[in-house]
Amino acid sequence: MRNLIRAQWSRYALSARPVVVYAVMVCASLLFSLAVAFLYTLTVEKTELRVQGDKLLHQAEQQLNQAGASLARVDAVQVADGCDLPRQLLASVVQATPHARYALKVTPEGHGCTSDMSRMDVPGAMQGGRSLQLVANADGSAVIRLAHRGDWISVIELGPEFLVGWLAQLSDDDVSARFVVGEQYLNSQGAVLPKDAEPAAGIAYAAQSTNGQYGVMLAESWGALWSRTLLYHADALLLAMVTGAVLAWALLRRRVARNSSGWEIAQGIRNKEFFTHYQPIVAAENGECVGVEVLARWRHPVQGAIRSDLFIPAAEDAGLIVPLTRYLIRRVTKELKQVALPPGFFVGINIAAEHLGMPDLVEDCKVLLAVLREKKAVLVLEVSERFPLPEHQVTHRVVQDLRQMGVKLALDDFGIGHADRNYLRRWGFDYLKVEKGYVSALGKDSFKTNILDNLLLTSQQLGVQVIVKGVETQGQQNYLTVKGFEFLQGFYFGKPMTLNHFRQWLYSGITQDRTHVPQRAAGVGKPEAASR
Ligand code: C2E
Ligand code: CA
Repeated sequence: MRNLIRAQWSRYALSARPVVVYAVMVCASLLFSLAVAFLYTLTVEKTELRVQGDKLLHQAEQQLNQAGASLARVDAVQVADGCDLPRQLLASVVQATPHARYALKVTPEGHGCTSDMSRMDVPGAMQGGRSLQLVANADGSAVIRLAHRGDWISVIELGPEFLVGWLAQLSDDDVSARFVVGEQYLNSQGAVLPKDAEPAAGIAYAAQSTNGQYGVMLAESWGALWSRTLLYHADALLLAMVTGAVLAWALLRRRVARNSSGWEIAQGIRNKEFFTHYQPIVAAENGECVGVEVLARWRHPVQGAIRSDLFIPAAEDAGLIVPLTRYLIRRVTKELKQVALPPGFFVGINIAAEHLGMPDLVEDCKVLLAVLREKKAVLVLEVSERFPLPEHQVTHRVVQDLRQMGVKLALDDFGIGHADRNYLRRWGFDYLKVEKGYVSALGKDSFKTNILDNLLLTSQQLGVQVIVKGVETQGQQNYLTVKGFEFLQGFYFGKPMTLNHFRQWLYSGITQDRTHVPQRAAGVGKPEAASR
């Protein structure tokens, strides 16, 4: 599963165009640094709001405590027969109290004296004990009223200018500062508003006075936080974008630097740099060409021909072997449409084990199969023994579906892996393609020669046919023919060649007997060298 995800991811990542890699890396880097910068700004701004809020509360407490002390002095004023003396005392309290405008004392009987002869405002609903109120006057102005209700009522009123001044200092388009009393608040314009008049959207800090009668609240909008983030961290964000671009460049460079890199393979597929060669497979008894193996070739625009033992593993590593095989199948389909093939001719295509685990393979093969069916030819999928087929239900179903469509299965590189009889039976291979090393070991390595000799018997028991690869000499051909091997493949008969060369080779061969024409077979080696 991990490998599948890795393969999918690398297929996606490696096949991306450089501009996409740059865009993704720059955006990712920018987003990451933006998130970090925003969190940093958030923390800083929260701290700032707390510091400013605490300072504001402290200042307010200092003033209002002083006013509270003055209220105690109003409490002490005696109101008896007339208001002359009380008024003087109350006026002196007002004078001595910063920001105080008015003081009032009312007896339990309802006789009241004020500091200002022209006013006699007895507050309406008042809670018992000491209280603080924000009062909005009819003219829109505000007053801070400190009151004490016992048997007597004592009141001292303060102008809000000092608070409004401080609130205004802290407020701007982005930050709002409020002095909160109960369900109301005073804003930086001096207006008294209900608490929920303008709910603060963003971050907020609220603190209560020690006596719990009032508090302050500072809030900053999300918009302000974002604009501060962009403003204060513009250079860091710019740096992040440059870093993203540098990372993308390094990534692309690493890819390019790697020989047969995944990215280059993806580019190669897009730019149709891959093409096919065909290597004949012959019947041992008469040298007749009975099949062909399709082999991938890559003509790199800068490096020229790249060996398939380099780019095939690289494509597998990069998770690009499936797209590459798909591309080759499409190409082979187009090419073979133009060729007349002998009936029963088999066309071998190398398939990665991973591809056999994908239901898409059935679709990938359909068009080629239709072309081959018209020519009465057979499609053979060659799967290497190097990578055991995954024992998944999906793989078994894919193999079953392919079989139903008439596709044959060959176990390639037979003899180097760990395939036992059970493995062969389970997957129902039709052909075993013996690894080249067994032929080159003939006459040199008796152990391998014995294995090769015994293979015919085993294959008959299993009902599979054997194709021996890597036949390079007439001696090898003679040996294998005498032993009874049916199908042979190797440079002795024909090297991998372009379609045109293969066509010439095939048609000319129909009129010739290849069994004993080593001169002709050797001559066939030229096309590949010439075409590379
Ligand atoms: P393979 O399937 O064993 O293919 C046969 C390889 O043996 C070919 O090498 C061919 O050129 C070489 N060969 C054929 N006859 C002789 C001979 O008489 N002597 C010697 N010394 N070599 C001979 P090539 O084309 O370089 O391919 C190498 C491997 O790359 C293939 O081995 C196959 O495993 C893989 N490959 C090639 N094309 C594809 C493809 O389209 N898909 C996949 N999945 N693998 C591919
Ligand atoms: Ca093969």
